[in-house]
Amino acid sequence: MPDVVVVGAGALGASIALELQRSGRTVTVVDKGMSVGGGSTSSSSAVVRYNYSTLDGAISAWESAHRWWSWSDHLDVGEGAGPLATFHRCPMILLESPGFDRARILKHLTDVGVQWEELDSDALAGRFPSIDTRAFFPPRRPDDERFFDEPGDRLDGVLIPDTGFIDDPQLAAVNLMDAARRQGTELRLRTLVVGVAVSGGRVAGVELADGSTIHAPVVVNAAGPWSSALNRLAGVTDAMAVHTRPMRQEVHVVESPPGCGLHDGGVLLADLDLGYYSRPQPGGTLLVGGVEPDCDPLEWVEDPDEVAPTPTVECFEAQVWRLARRLPDLAVPHRPTGLAGVYDVTPDWLPIYDRSSLDGFYLAIGTSGNQFKNAPLVGQMLLDLVDACEAGHDHDADPVTTDCHHIGRTLNLGTFSRLRTEVATSGTVLG
Ligand SMILES: Cc1cc2nc3c(=O)[nH]c(=O)nc-3n(C[C@H](O)[C@H](O)[C@H](O)COP(=O)(O)OP(=O)(O)OC[C@H]3O[C@@H](n4cnc5c(N)ncnc54)[C@H](O)[C@@H]3O)c2cc1C
Repeated sequence: MPDVVVVGAGALGASIALELQRSGRTVTVVDKGMSVGGGSTSSSSAVVRYNYSTLDGAISAWESAHRWWSWSDHLDVGEGAGPLATFHRCPMILLESPGFDRARILKHLTDVGVQWEELDSDALAGRFPSIDTRAFFPPRRPDDERFFDEPGDRLDGVLIPDTGFIDDPQLAAVNLMDAARRQGTELRLRTLVVGVAVSGGRVAGVELADGSTIHAPVVVNAAGPWSSALNRLAGVTDAMAVHTRPMRQEVHVVESPPGCGLHDGGVLLADLDLGYYSRPQPGGTLLVGGVEPDCDPLEWVEDPDEVAPTPTVECFEAQVWRLARRLPDLAVPHRPTGLAGVYDVTPDWLPIYDRSSLDGFYLAIGTSGNQFKNAPLVGQMLLDLVDACEAGHDHDADPVTTDCHHIGRTLNLGTFSRLRTEVATSGTVLG
């Protein structure tokens, strides 16, 4: 019998398995899919940025970045360990919408030690000549007759130089899982959890579709967009103030216009003025995704398994045409290219890293489209929670903290409580 069962072999489940196994526990990871990282991790844009609405959001992203930058050390592997996911540095420009609370974001960045630079409208336009820096607000859909209205004055912006992305998020999950398995973690793919066993008022393991049970005193829900279904099986939903819900989201791929590629002056764009984000990627293309502008309906889904992975013409045109307004040399493809994935969204777009009302049943869920970057740290967060709560500590009354040793900060896990009052955030994937 393992000490811990982790449900979900995505980036988070793999990281949690690694740290719990490193702590001396025996861990079994189960996943209904056929591959490690084959869930929402595989469709991640894998952007690594630090502009979050909460200080703890900025701390966790900045600490995690240091772990991506020393990935082989984090995994404890030497040369020749096989392919490793790679961080590509790519500066980010934040273009705001009216009323955006820039001061709050900059305060968090300054507090944690992230560099930033405010660019006035002349500096922004001068340094990034491939970008039309004029204001297009509010975001519209291309079938809106005002979509091609003449833009307003040129915007200013914030440049954050040390942002970037991970080139292969699924490989990152595989790296973490391989590291956990080298320590002794057991991995069981094609293994569907259909029930949560309870005995004596605490979790006792997971029940599988084949009728068997894996007995364990600790179970971690790292089931990504399927997290709410697993919570219902565990009977913990009613005792949560914050719930998770799957939401469909598309990301499109287009050719980089000149001056916008990864090694060609290209930058990450978090463009709230037009309602999208984009990032260059190796091979001369750009990814473009949405940041939930008011004009785009949110696509809530009941069952993530029913989401087709293909993009739609409507969403493709909305996102890519917005990018084309910002990058006038962009050639818009005739057919949608890209993918559809599923976020696991909370009402305030902050994750839930917490215990639950069922002793021994822990939560690493509600990642709201913005927690891949924190995968290297989430394992340690869950280890700290499990260590404290299993020793009888009352985390709900006195929140556990996690030591972010790379940046010399302490993370308050109470920020990510299932019992929190909804936090005032961006209310979007930016968290
Ligand atoms: C389109 C898209 C773009 C994104 N872009 C970014 C980004 O730029 N930056 C960023 O930081 N984050 C981003 N994210 C978010 C990030 O990818 C996720 O937060 C992260 O990958 C979630 O990892 P996970 O391990 O929690 O979940 P998943 O990778 O979804 O893994 C959950 C696993 O649980 C398994 N599972 C579920 N239920 C069961 C069950 N009952 N029995 C057995 N197995 C089960 C599933 O098969 C799945 O493999 C994006 C997400 C999407 C969808």
